[in-house]
Formats: sequence, C-alpha cells, structure tokens
Amino acid sequence: MNHLVVATRNKGKILEINALLAGLVDRISGAGDYVDFPETIEDGATFEENALKKAREAVLFTGLPALADDSGLVVDALDGRPGVFSARYAGEGAGDTANNARLLEECRDIPSDRRQAAFVCVLAFVTPEGVEKLFTGRVAGRILTAARGEGGFGYDPLFLVDGFERSMAELTLAEKNGVSHRAWAFMKFREYLETME
Ligand code: IMP
Repeated sequence: MNHLVVATRNKGKILEINALLAGLVDRISGAGDYVDFPETIEDGATFEENALKKAREAVLFTGLPALADDSGLVVDALDGRPGVFSARYAGEGAGDTANNARLLEECRDIPSDRRQAAFVCVLAFVTPEGVEKLFTGRVAGRILTAARGEGGFGYDPLFLVDGFERSMAELTLAEKNGVSHRAWAFMKFREYLETME
C-alpha cells in the first residue's frame, strides 16, 4: 500500500505502528500531520464501534485508506472495566497516574487468584471504496498490587504479562511488540494486507 493514514495523535503509538507495519506500507501519516484533523468523539459502547467511527471519519477527511485502533484494559473481576473508559477511568482528562491509582483502588479487595485481566486492541481498516475490516488482539495477564517498571505507557506498570515474570512496563519495546494486544491485532492486519497485495 502506498499511503495509509493512522487516526491517532499519539506519537508513541505511531512509532510502534511504523515498526509493526514495516515493509508493507510505503508511507504512514498520523493525525498530527494534518491541520484540523477531526477529533472523533469516542462514545461507542465497544472497542469495535469506536475504532470504526475513528477510521470512517479519517477516510472522509483525507480520502485515503485509514486505520484506527481502540484499545483498553479489561479486568474480569470488575465486569470488564475500565474497558472503553480506560483512557478516562479516573475522569475526563485524567492521566496515567490518576487512572492507575483508580485501578489499584478498585482492585484493592480482589484476591490474588481473581485478578485476571487482558489488554484488548481492535483495529478498524476502512477505505474510500467502502472496505471495512476489524482485527482484534488480546494479551492476558494479572493486575499487580503495586506498579513495576518504567517502560511502556498507560496501565503497563500494573499488568503482569502471562508467561513472563515481568510487568508490561518491564518488557523492552521489542518484547512488548512481540506479545502485546496491539501486536496481535497488527499481525492479523499484516496477514490481511499480504493477501491483498
Ligand atoms: P487507546 O484507545 O489505544 O488510546 O487506549 C485507551 C487507553 O487504554 C489508554 O489511555 C491506556 O490507558 C490504555 N491502553 C491501551 N493500550 C495500552 C498499552 O499498551 N499499555 C497500557 N495501557 C494501554
């Protein structure tokens, strides 16, 4: 593919996405490369609805094929919260520190054998010709009782990755890109693009 627009302003995410799509897309633009790129209101009840809404608006604005992701943390014992509210769990405009504090508080009384959780990522790929595809990735883990590690972002320091003795924030970027929810969703998207070539 010549040119793909990724509907995000998050520079860290664009960096990860460049690595994950290396060799398959000649040029990747982000929302920050455009003046007045639309700010999609993420009011969907599911990751799928939000990702599709973002990708559709990006196609309308740029006229290019667009990719959008919606992701978050799903904690089993919290009935799937924070889910689509992951970015604003501690309130509108809340940062990682406040969101992580809220998560620790909500999980305070959950015993160690019931702290299962997953990061989930849904990718929506939409083209001006009307193609609409969804790709989902998941990584399972457990919620820690205190933050560990300096890497990553968001809830990474509180998420112990299944199969590792480390939190997501204790993995290197390469290790995270090998196991993360986003990596799995992108792997499926890569496979799709390869069959399209
Ligand atoms: P977004 O929809 O991808 O922007 O993600 C929403 C929120 O989910 C972020 O603000 C983070 O709180 C959380 N999140 C998504 N992906 C990750 C990740 O890889 N590590 C930690 N937190 C994440």
